[in-house]
Amino acid sequence: MKPTKLLAVLSLFGVFNAIAALELPIVDYRLADNSELWKKAKADEVPAPLIAMNRTNRPNNSYSSLFPKSFLQESMFTVCYQNCSNNDLFKVKNGSVTTLDYRGNHQWNVIEQTNVYFWLASYFRFLDERFYFKPDQYLKVFTNRDIKDESNKKMRNNAFFNPQDVSLSFLPASKNLLFKLLGGKINRSGLDPSVVAHEASHYFFHHLFPNAVNQEIGGLNEGFADYVANILLQNPKVGLVMLQGKTLRDSSSVLDGKGNMKVYAPNMEVHDLGERVSLALWKSRELSLDKNEFDRMVVDAVVELSENPYATIHDFKVLMMKRLSSVISAQRLSLAEANFELIFPGNPVKVDNLSFMLKPIRAESFIGFKIRQDIPTKLAEEMGVPASDAFNFTIIKMEKVSATQTAILVADETKTTTTPYWVVLDNTRGNILGIYDLSRKLVKNPDELEKLEKLITQVKNSAEFVKDFTGKLKSFTDLHNGKGDFNIAYRVNRKSVNQVPLTFNGREETAQRIDMELKRRVLTLILGIPDITHVSLYTMPNLNLTSLPEIEGQKVIGYKLQLANGTLMEVILDKLN
Ligand SMILES: [Zn+2]
Repeated sequence: MKPTKLLAVLSLFGVFNAIAALELPIVDYRLADNSELWKKAKADEVPAPLIAMNRTNRPNNSYSSLFPKSFLQESMFTVCYQNCSNNDLFKVKNGSVTTLDYRGNHQWNVIEQTNVYFWLASYFRFLDERFYFKPDQYLKVFTNRDIKDESNKKMRNNAFFNPQDVSLSFLPASKNLLFKLLGGKINRSGLDPSVVAHEASHYFFHHLFPNAVNQEIGGLNEGFADYVANILLQNPKVGLVMLQGKTLRDSSSVLDGKGNMKVYAPNMEVHDLGERVSLALWKSRELSLDKNEFDRMVVDAVVELSENPYATIHDFKVLMMKRLSSVISAQRLSLAEANFELIFPGNPVKVDNLSFMLKPIRAESFIGFKIRQDIPTKLAEEMGVPASDAFNFTIIKMEKVSATQTAILVADETKTTTTPYWVVLDNTRGNILGIYDLSRKLVKNPDELEKLEKLITQVKNSAEFVKDFTGKLKSFTDLHNGKGDFNIAYRVNRKSVNQVPLTFNGREETAQRIDMELKRRVLTLILGIPDITHVSLYTMPNLNLTSLPEIEGQKVIGYKLQLANGTLMEVILDKLN
């Protein structure tokens, strides 16, 4: 940065020492749609006209309560720079606030932190005023968060809400060389008020509908998040600051980012489905004379929807249609209804019949897997998930419910118990219509559903899971034999064979575990392929399974792989008929 510009930005912070009330630099979204202003903007910076000073009293819980090192702390949330244990960019000196370090890159770190704080405080006020809603879960917020994903890559260009530890993370902008060479300019997510409001709305939605089964509710969540950001900022466009004047998503546009009409299709990616939701909401809101009442009606529909954990996007449509007449005049009502019908054609699907549960359970063919995953302790702590996770699942049988519905009997197996459940799938839209226990009771208890979460994911993705599993077995067997794609990326340094006990179809068997120590070739560095250090293959003799690869006459039935950062993944086929 040139010295003249540095001085200009530094002067923004001079006010901290001079007056008792705080003036925080924030990003004003109202000018973000002006492409002229962005022309000369550098990557990860916001043009000066978009920076506004906001006068505020100091946060009501600074340096107290849960996070004694954090200045920007309110009674319901805190905004920390990177993490909540050190590095805070603010400190109080002689009763006034000064930034710790605002030279060089730190000025944008400061602006990001104050911007997220300001917009979150506004958001909490807005929830109270518009929806009479007060969240009850303390929210931790990290700006410019330094975090790595499972494959040890620094996470960038995004922001996320983590319901596990009730936190919001704003990630840094890309510093990718190719990205820069191509002239790509992107801002860190925390500089964008619409991204702050969008992520905060996931936190809001989590209060309203915490235990949804179907991915379509994930799409509703995305659309709802855009919609609430839209109404808070009174702007249908999201992402203008992060993308330097370009639009990430536009709730007022009938075309999506790829130029397609925004119409529902089964199995849509959540943000794509979300764009359909926010369009339907934005367009019907325009037809309403009482916008505030309309907004409350949307939240009311989500709350009623949450009574059914198996709800789908079409159930949401029905609840909205039921309410439209209370906020839209009779003359405009048919227009609003036509909007919903156009974007989400059709009706919700119900389970056609339950007669499959009456048949005796005799499994002609079944398949089961033992899965184990370990991730580095630090990453697990940061993500608020367990570091080690072991899991068994078995598909016992499949029954046709009707032409478009299938029931799958799956078992969740632990050391002591095996609990089978019927999962009814709508094959057309890819939704789960219901999960029943063997006493034919629909599972609705949130705790029980939470326990079944992994099983549900496995059932929904079972086709891809089996494909991925057999694909990996084949690739690793090829690697063992010195051929295939993996052989281009890795070299097998050392091999050893061990006898190991293994349970297969309920019997104790002796299997072989072939351990391979890998050395990656330079190609993995260039292409960013994960640094796999060890691969093991489990093989067993005397199995008549033609679909599995072979090593020295034995069938390969499982693999274990280990990454340099400590991530471990093991999948073993342990039941098959
Ligand atoms: Zn989102």
